[in-house]
Amino acid sequence: MTQEVETFKFQAEINQLMSLIINTFYSNKEVFLRELISNASDALDKIRYQSLTDNSVLESKPELEIRIIPDKAAKTLTIIDSGIGMTKSDLVKNLGTIASSGTKKFMEQLNTGGADISMIGQFGVGFYSAYLVADTVIVHSKHNDDEQYVWTSSAGGEFTVAIDNSEPLGRGTKLVLHMKDDQLDFLDETKIKNLVKKHSEFIQYPINLLTIKEKEVEEEKKTETSEETGDAKIEEIEDEEVKKEKKKVQEKEWDVLNKTKPLWTRNAAEITKEEYNSFYKSISNDWEEPLAVKHFSVEGQLEFRAILFVPKRAPFDLFESKKKHNNIKLYVKRVFIMDNCQDLIPEWLNFIKGIVDSEDLPLNISRETLQQNSILKVIRKNLVKKCLELFAEVAENNEDYKKFYESFAKNLKLGIHEDTQNREKIADLLRYHTSKSGEETTTLKEYVARMKEGQKDIYYITGENRKTVETSPFIEGLKKKNLEVIYMTDPIDEYAVQQLKEYDGKKLVSITKEGLKLDETEEEKVKAEEDKKANEVLVSEIKEVLGDKIEKVVLSTRLVNSPCALVTSEFGWSANMERIMKAQALRDNSMSTYMSSKKTMEINPDHPIVQELRKKANEKAKTFKDFVHLLYETALLSSGFSLDDPSSFATRIHRMIKLGLSIPTGDDSSNNNNTTDEELPPLVSDNNEPSQMEQVD
Ligand code: ADP
Repeated sequence: MTQEVETFKFQAEINQLMSLIINTFYSNKEVFLRELISNASDALDKIRYQSLTDNSVLESKPELEIRIIPDKAAKTLTIIDSGIGMTKSDLVKNLGTIASSGTKKFMEQLNTGGADISMIGQFGVGFYSAYLVADTVIVHSKHNDDEQYVWTSSAGGEFTVAIDNSEPLGRGTKLVLHMKDDQLDFLDETKIKNLVKKHSEFIQYPINLLTIKEKEVEEEKKTETSEETGDAKIEEIEDEEVKKEKKKVQEKEWDVLNKTKPLWTRNAAEITKEEYNSFYKSISNDWEEPLAVKHFSVEGQLEFRAILFVPKRAPFDLFESKKKHNNIKLYVKRVFIMDNCQDLIPEWLNFIKGIVDSEDLPLNISRETLQQNSILKVIRKNLVKKCLELFAEVAENNEDYKKFYESFAKNLKLGIHEDTQNREKIADLLRYHTSKSGEETTTLKEYVARMKEGQKDIYYITGENRKTVETSPFIEGLKKKNLEVIYMTDPIDEYAVQQLKEYDGKKLVSITKEGLKLDETEEEKVKAEEDKKANEVLVSEIKEVLGDKIEKVVLSTRLVNSPCALVTSEFGWSANMERIMKAQALRDNSMSTYMSSKKTMEINPDHPIVQELRKKANEKAKTFKDFVHLLYETALLSSGFSLDDPSSFATRIHRMIKLGLSIPTGDDSSNNNNTTDEELPPLVSDNNEPSQMEQVD
């Protein structure tokens, strides 16, 4: 019977990737070994996991191991694993016809310099790194459910698959790399040993290297001497003279290259930083070292060990929704159970990498039952606690904490929002600029320590950036009273502060909202009463003009240099929140009418504009309405809102400019703005008050 050899075409993107791998000049080719060993280890994990529920799957080959065989004469490097193996259909799909989503991404990033070839493993196409060093790759594979098949390709766009009649594997995969002529040094024993040590030390299965040892063996040649010499025959034993000859022979031997004792089971005091670093790299695909590590065990009612790492920086897709992060690996009694076990760690800690090894979870636990598992819940609680300790440790070093905070402040704020139990602890990790912090940032604890005598609340302002909050009208009164204000300029601050509410028993109070009560002296109280009476008409007239646009008009205690500002209700959205919500295009509109609260107009009774306006209100001057509209619109802007109708605002301003330039109003033919002036009341119909214009300026 002739064996059928089927030929397949590589999927277009894979083909492109292979050409790129083969043709790009790239000197760091050694990564191929790490990738292939990692695939072998994954395949071993899979069969071991299956064996937890059905031990018979191991019968086809009981040992779980990786073997490496360099052959200088044949110029091949062979890597064998007794993992799960691949069926014929797996070979066709996994090694050539179905591109993983990472294929394209990887090529794009290679082209833009965002990635280099050593990062191939992160994109799920590590297998093809074999072509960095080999011109032909042969994959023999035996899966328990199928015959043994062989896959062959010398690139060039196609590969073949056929029944494999070569030596039976029992189970697993054997990769034979026919090395390129200039890559033969990868067949060198020492080189392979060093590479495995460097990149694959923490693989959980023995990696055996076939080595050739030269040994001197002594061959014995016996000669009888006694009779010939005629010496005394007393000591017969000595009669035989043993001649020894030394001879060199080559012997093959398997060397185990890795310590398979898992790092986390070892005593932390005996583990070096380098060991942690390379362990981190081996589990994370990160090419950088971690920022911090925590290795601990929990004993008592529940027993587990864990190593947690904080990376130096956030991955580019940290908050990409639905993206599964390959972060915490779950082991049960040293047996790998699953990657990216999301129930182990809350979402806000999705940047933490590491492993957890439990003594109590059942070995055959599935993803589905895991969610309800109470042991897992306790582990999770402990992990969060340890993470918080770890962050506090990082915070002891300013430089490190700065890096950490730049990368993960958003996560902490998400934590404030989500994690009721640890809210106060997470709040300790926050850092903000304030009206008194200068270029440095401050903690809430430091803020509280600096609070003025009698100050009950913690004051904050939210806004788009530091500049806008620093110059906001709301801050004037507090500055004058020497009260410190925290600047919150990250959109997620709005969400976090809604949940935080309090710190150290002090209420967090937004200075752009209602409910801000600044301490008043007796004098100020008396003045406030007087102001209230004096401005009664003005207040009601303004409300009359603005109607539904505002909830009410009140006299302000927080304004100093500005004539007025718009505050929002204590539990509704701030102006900044409204801006953020408007930017989210797919937002539910019903929410916004409900939450975007009515604005209260605060007027500053000491401001000259307000004082002049008061006269106009009393006199029922015709220009009053227009000034009120203008004040309202400018207050919208300075308070952080956007204008409902920018064109009518512009028209009002243009009229004022004309007035300032003494251009007669009413003639707007030169104005190519589409707004019709007729809709608006004339700005100044009684021309006898030019002095006020300067003040409006
Ligand atoms: P990744 O391993 O990141 O998925 P690769 O390109 O390295 O990407 O491998 C593609 C697929 O081929 C793997 O997901 C796996 O299913 C299969 N595979 C590769 N090597 C082996 C192996 N040694 N044993 C079993 N399956 C393998």
